[in-house]
Amino acid sequence: MLPDIALHRPASLAAAVAGLDWDHVGYAGGTELVPALRLGVRRPTALIDLKRLPELSGIEEAVDGDTETLSIGALTTHRQAAASPAVRRLAPMLADVVAHVGNVRVRTTGTLGGNLAFAEPRSDLATVCIALGAGVDVAGPRGHRHVSVDDLIVGPYESSLEPDELIVRLVVPTPHDPGARYWKLQTMERPTLGVAIVPGEEGVTVVVGAAAERPVRVVVPSGADAETALDAFCAGVELISDMTGSADYKRAVLRHHLAGELLGRRAA
Ligand SMILES: Cc1cc2nc3c(=O)[nH]c(=O)nc-3n(C[C@H](O)[C@H](O)[C@H](O)COP(=O)(O)OP(=O)(O)OC[C@H]3O[C@@H](n4cnc5c(N)ncnc54)[C@H](O)[C@@H]3O)c2cc1C
Repeated sequence: MLPDIALHRPASLAAAVAGLDWDHVGYAGGTELVPALRLGVRRPTALIDLKRLPELSGIEEAVDGDTETLSIGALTTHRQAAASPAVRRLAPMLADVVAHVGNVRVRTTGTLGGNLAFAEPRSDLATVCIALGAGVDVAGPRGHRHVSVDDLIVGPYESSLEPDELIVRLVVPTPHDPGARYWKLQTMERPTLGVAIVPGEEGVTVVVGAAAERPVRVVVPSGADAETALDAFCAGVELISDMTGSADYKRAVLRHHLAGELLGRRAA
C-alpha cells in the first residue's frame, strides 16, 4: 500500500524548486520512487509532480563554434530518447543503451533525469554518460549550475544534488568517435556489468558500471602499454559481489571482455 501523501503540481520551474526539500520530493515517471514509497525506504510528506514543467522537456541540438551538443530534457523517457532521430544520429551509443534499459514499462515511463538523479548503482545510463563526457544542467533556488555526470554520481543512491535542486537537462557533447560502444552482461532485470568504450586521441576511455559502487573510469593508452594498463586496471578495480555474481567472477568477465575489445584477443 502507498502511504497517504500530498501531491503538488507546480506550474513553473521556479515554483517547483521553491517547494522542494527532504520532505517534499520531485517525481517524474515514479518507477523508482513508487516502489521506494511502498517499501517505506522513502517517507516524504509530499510529492512534487515534475511532469508539467516545459523546461524539463524536449530534445534539442545546439551548435557553439566547433562544438555541437545534444540537450535532452530530464523528463524525456528512455523510449522517447531511443526513438529520437537527433539522439540516434548524434549519440547512437546512448540511443542504443536507452532502447535496452529495463522492460517496456520502465522505458515508457522512466525518465533520463530520474535515472541519473536516483544514482542507482546499476544504471547503464550513468556509465554511458560518464564515458561520453556528458553533464546535467541543474536548477535550484540559488540559480542554475552545470555538473558533469561523473561529479553527479557520488555513490549508491547518492547524487551530488541538493534536496531542493532538479536536473533540468542532460547535455551530451557530440559528435562521438564512431567506435564508441557499450556492452552489458545482464541475467536479471538490471545489469550485472556494463562496459562503455570510447576511443580518443590519448587512448581509449573505458567506464565500468553496474559492478561497482559507482561507475569507474580509466583511460587505457594505445600501443605497447595497453596490456600492462589493462592488467593493472582489472586487478585493482573495486567490484562488488551480489546475487548476480561474485566480484572475482565479474573481474574475470571484465578482463575477458576488455582483452577482446582492446587487445584483439580473448584472455585465458
Ligand atoms: C524493473 C526496473 C528495471 C530497470 N532496469 C534498468 C536498466 O537495465 N538500466 C538502467 O540504466 N536503469 C534501469 N532501471 C532504472 C530506470 O531507468 C529508472 O527507474 C527510471 O529512469 C527512473 O526515472 P523516473 O522518471 O521513473 O524516476 P522517479 O521514480 O520519478 O524518481 C526517481 C528519483 O529521482 C528523483 N527525480 C526524478 N526526476 C528528477 C529530476 N529531474 N531532477 C532531480 N531529481 C529527480 C525523484 O525525486 C526520485 O528520488 C530499471 C528500473 C526498474 C524499476
